[in-house]
Amino acid sequence: MAEKRDYYEVLGVSKTADEKELKRAYRKLAKQYHPDTNPDDKVAEAKFREATEAYEVLNDPQKRQQYDQFGHAAFSQGAGGGYGGFGGFSGMDMGDIFGDFFGDIFGGGRRANPNAPRQGASLRASLELEFKEAVFGVEKDLNITISEECSTCSGSGAKPGTKPETCTTCNGSGQVRYNQQTMFGAVSSVRPCSTCNGTGKTIKEKCTTCSGGGYVKTKKRISVTIPAGIEDGQTIRLRGKGEPGINGGPRGDILLTLYVKSSKDFERVGNDIYYTMPITFTQAALGAELVVPTLEGEVSYPMNAGTQTGTRFRLRGKGVPYLNNSRIRGDQYITVVVETPKNLNEEQKELLRKLEESLGGKKSSPQKGNSKKKGFFDKMKDGLDNMFAEDDNK
Ligand SMILES: [Zn+2]
Ligand SMILES: [Zn+2]
Repeated sequence: MAEKRDYYEVLGVSKTADEKELKRAYRKLAKQYHPDTNPDDKVAEAKFREATEAYEVLNDPQKRQQYDQFGHAAFSQGAGGGYGGFGGFSGMDMGDIFGDFFGDIFGGGRRANPNAPRQGASLRASLELEFKEAVFGVEKDLNITISEECSTCSGSGAKPGTKPETCTTCNGSGQVRYNQQTMFGAVSSVRPCSTCNGTGKTIKEKCTTCSGGGYVKTKKRISVTIPAGIEDGQTIRLRGKGEPGINGGPRGDILLTLYVKSSKDFERVGNDIYYTMPITFTQAALGAELVVPTLEGEVSYPMNAGTQTGTRFRLRGKGVPYLNNSRIRGDQYITVVVETPKNLNEEQKELLRKLEESLGGKKSSPQKGNSKKKGFFDKMKDGLDNMFAEDDNK
C-alpha cells in the first residue's frame, strides 16, 4: 500500500478548515466516489474509504487535535483506540446523515437493501491428476458436498401444505430502522431484520427435511473438463457450481485446485518435456537410429556418429499443449548420456584394447584371460552383441 496521505490533503481543505468546510469537502468526495455510484470500481472505493477515514478523524475535535500533533501515528494499530480498521460505515444510513442532498443516491443503495440478491459462497476442492491427464486434458468426476434445493418443500423451507408467512417484525421488508449514536449524533440506521434474517418471511411450521432452510447438504458428483496443459498446483474456476445464492442470487463458484503426479520417465518444465536417454558407447561413436519415448508413444531419431555425451536434441511440438491454445505445443528435449560399459568379459576387453590401439592410444600389456578358448569370430560376435545392446527400456 502506498504511503498514507495527509487527511487535510485527502479532503482538499486547509489546516484551519472549520466544521462546515470539512463537511462540504467530504460530501463532495463521498458523492463522487461512493461505491453505490461506482459499482465494482476499486479505485473509487479506495478513495471513498480514504475520504471517510479523513473526515471521521478531522470532524472529531479530540481526534483532530491528536492528528495535528502526532500525524497518522496517533491512530496506528494498537494505539488511539483501535483506529486500525475503518469499516464502520456499513451500518450507517448515509441518506439520514446527509438528508435530501444524498437521498437520491443512497436511498436505494445496496446497503439499504438487505433483501438484494447475493451470490452464493464459493467452495474449494482439489483433484489429483495423472501426468498425462494434465498434459492432454481429461474428463473427471468430482465428488463434492453441496447445498441443493430441498425436494420435500421445493426450497420454501415450510412444511409441505404450509407456506412461509410475512414477517410481522418488519412487515415483510426484511429490514428494521433504529436509532444509533454515532459521531454525527443520533442517526437512524437500517439493519436486516433479525426475526426473519432479512428475508421478510417467517416459517411457522418448518420443513423437517431441511429444518426450514430450504436447502439440504447433498453429496454430488460433478463432471469436470480439465483443459490440456494444466500444471501442478493450478486452480480452475467452475462458475456457478458453488453454493446457492441468497434471495435469488446466482450460485457461487467451485475453485478446483489440481495436483499433478510426476512421471518416472519425463520431467515437465512449463510446456516442455525433458527426457534423459542412456546410449551405449558404440551408438555414440557409430551413430544410431534411436527409439525415443514421447508423451504419445515412441518415435525414431537419427543420431549422428560421433555424438558426445550430454548432447541435447529437440523434438519440436512433442511437448505439452498450451492451456490457452491447445494447438500450440511445447517441445521435447532428449539428452543422451553415454553409459560406460561395466563388467566386461575378457573378449570384450580385448576388443576395446584393439580399438584403443588402432586409435593410437598407448599400448597396454595384454592380460592373459582365463575364459574358455573361443574362435576369433565367436569373440567378435559376443563382444558386439553386448556392446550394441539397446539400452532404451531401462
Ligand atoms: Zn425442506
Ligand atoms: Zn422480518
